[in-house]
Amino acid sequence: MSLTIDKITFKVKKGIFNIFPQLCKGCGLCKEKCPHGVLDWSDELGLYGTPTVEPIYSEECTACKMCENSCPDCAIKIERKKKEKKEKDK
Ligand code: SF4
Ligand code: SF4
Repeated sequence: MSLTIDKITFKVKKGIFNIFPQLCKGCGLCKEKCPHGVLDWSDELGLYGTPTVEPIYSEECTACKMCENSCPDCAIKIERKKKEKKEKDK
């Protein structure tokens, strides 16, 4: 038997913001640490029936991973957009 952990995915300016509600305890640390005030409480409930977070100001998200790194429960995963390679001058 395998355990499946569902994630909710949001497109943000510089990448993808994933949250795993089953891991989120609603501590709010990620919200406090985000340097751009991107995150706010969500209607989606987490592990203890507390709100999870979502990137409401997604256009401000720089995919810096501060929220991911500050979450004590690994409930956030940021995927950065890959930079397009510039063609070198010939
Ligand atoms: S990746 Fe950075 S800017 Fe985006 S929500 Fe997380 S802390 Fe905020
Ligand atoms: S830091 Fe992690 S556990 Fe705390 S509210 Fe944010 S996502 Fe949930």
